[in-house]
Order: sequence, then structure tokens, then C-alpha cells
Amino acid sequence: AKENGKNQVQSYDPRMSTVSLERLTLENHIRGALDNKEFQLYYQPQYDTESSRIVGMEALIRWFSPEHGMITPLKFIPLAEETGLILPISEWVLSQACSDNKLLLDQGFEPLIVSVNISADQFTDMHFVSQVERILTHTGLPAELLCLEITESVAIRNLELTIRHLNDLITLGVQIALDDFGTGNSSLSLVKSLPLHMIKIDRAFVRDMTLSPANMAVFDTILSLARGLNLECCAEGVETAEQFKIVSDKYCGLVQGYFFSKPVPLSDLDAFLREMGSG
Ligand code: C2E
Ligand code: CA
Ligand code: CA
Ligand code: CA
Repeated sequence: AKENGKNQVQSYDPRMSTVSLERLTLENHIRGALDNKEFQLYYQPQYDTESSRIVGMEALIRWFSPEHGMITPLKFIPLAEETGLILPISEWVLSQACSDNKLLLDQGFEPLIVSVNISADQFTDMHFVSQVERILTHTGLPAELLCLEITESVAIRNLELTIRHLNDLITLGVQIALDDFGTGNSSLSLVKSLPLHMIKIDRAFVRDMTLSPANMAVFDTILSLARGLNLECCAEGVETAEQFKIVSDKYCGLVQGYFFSKPVPLSDLDAFLREMGSG
């Protein structure tokens, strides 16, 4: 697997730390990754506690590099953001997710909402809304079967632009979710001022829920905030039957996590849906 040994020798500098050397090689390889079709979307199902059905799936990108093996998005998304490659990668993600979801729809599965993570540079691009509109038209996916996930830090970059984009997207008919809620510099007034459909409770709160009554209170507070604002709520990172029971007893609308399924390729999700009886 070291057929690129020559490159590594050329770029070797004894003063360079292992970390930055790794970054440099990754950076060289990510440039060709899109053309070489090394990215793949995995999907994680979202379970509706009210209807006991899978109603959605989150698209999560994976990079299968011939040189480095599977690379997690936590490692290469920041790199893609620094190099500007995030824009073409994000456009590929959005259009792949929409066409995959249209494929499931055409295969006769019950309509699922596909959620796509939106990066800051993508969201603040002045052409973002028209990009979404073009991709929906091109793939034929009904707008209401697309959900865009933005984080609080993306939202506060430019609040005025955020609200304008969100309103335009909602006019198109797409759904909006606030991802990783409760992690960044959350502010209650931010949530109130954003046009949203859903809050996703970060998995840290689900993980810590059973550790202490105080942690449980934090989870409950986010849930009641969502309810008060008339927003759907999704609990992320539900791994155990105990966690699942707690969040569904609290009537948290959607549940996502390893308890149901890890993120899987589309073909595996297909099989999973048939098993769950959503086909
Ligand atoms: P995220 O949007 O919060 O996605 C959820 C992450 O939690 C995923 O990690 C998923 O695999 C993981 N996860 C789901 N259920 C469980 C569970 O029960 N237990 C545990 N321990 N983990 C669980 P992943 O796929 O490594 O993605 C990490 C982050 O990378 C995402 O966090 C998102 O911020 C970013 N990302 C992934 N795909 C994309 C993409 O296509 N575009 C952009 N811009 N960012 C992406
Ligand atoms: Ca997400
Ligand atoms: Ca999240
Ligand atoms: Ca519901």
C-alpha cells in the first residue's frame, strides 16, 4: 500500500511533526478524491417513536482512500474546509443524497426524509439556495423529503444571512434541523429567532442522561424547549435499550443511534428497511 513512497520521501522534512506530515499527505490526496470517486455516503436510519417506523436517514460521508484506508469525516472535513475543497465535496454530498433518496422512493419504499449536513462555507455561499433548488429539480426529489442540518456555529456566523437563507429554503419546501444542539455557544434566543423544524439533541446529553439526575434535567429541558417552540426533536447517539426506553417514554419524536443501526451503505439500508417492514 506504500506505492506512493516517492511522494513521501520528497515531502519529508525532519523538522516536520508526524501530525503535519500526515496532514500534508492527506491534503495532497483529498484533491483527487472527488474525481477518483473515493467518497461514499453512508446512511443512518431515524426511528419515529410515535409511528414505530423508520421515517428518515442521515447522510454521513466516508472517504475510502487507497493510500490511507477509511478516513472519518472528523479528520478530513476540517481539512477540506481549509483547502476550499469543501464546496465541491458538499455539492456532491447534497446531490448524491437527493438522488439516493429518490431511488428509494422509486423502489416503492415509504417516503423517507434524507438529512444532509451543511458546512459553514456551503451555507453562507450566496448561491446556496439556488444550488439546493437546482439539485432538487435535477434529481426529482420532492423538497419535503430533504432536511438540511446546520449547527449553531454555522447559524451565528451571519445571523441575517442565515435567517434569509432558511426562509428561502423553507419556501422551497425543505426541512431544517439544528444539529448538535446544546454543544456550542447555545443561546435560547438564537433558537427562538431561527426558522426551524427540528432540534437534534447532541449525543453527549443522551450518553450522560443516566449518570445523574442533573444530566437528566438537561435532557428534559432541551426536550421541553423544543416542545414549547413547536419543534420536532431527535435524540442522537441512542446506543442502548435503556436509553431508547427513556427517550421514547419522554415522547422524544425521533431517535437515531447505534441501538437501531450504525451508518451503513445504501444497499444495506435497503435491506434494513425491508426487515423493518417499511418497504
Ligand atoms: P454529526 O452530524 O453529529 O453526525 C453524527 C455522528 O455520530 C456520526 O459520526 C455518526 O456515525 C455518529 N453516531 C451515530 N449514532 C451513534 C451512536 O449511537 N454512538 C456513537 N458513539 N456515535 C454515533 P460520523 O459519521 O463520524 O460524522 C462525524 C461528523 O462529521 C458529523 O457529526 C458531521 O458533523 C460531519 N459530517 C459527516 N458527514 C458530513 C457531510 O457529508 N458533510 C459535512 N459538512 N459534514 C459531515
Ligand atoms: Ca448531523
Ligand atoms: Ca449531530
Ligand atoms: Ca412526531
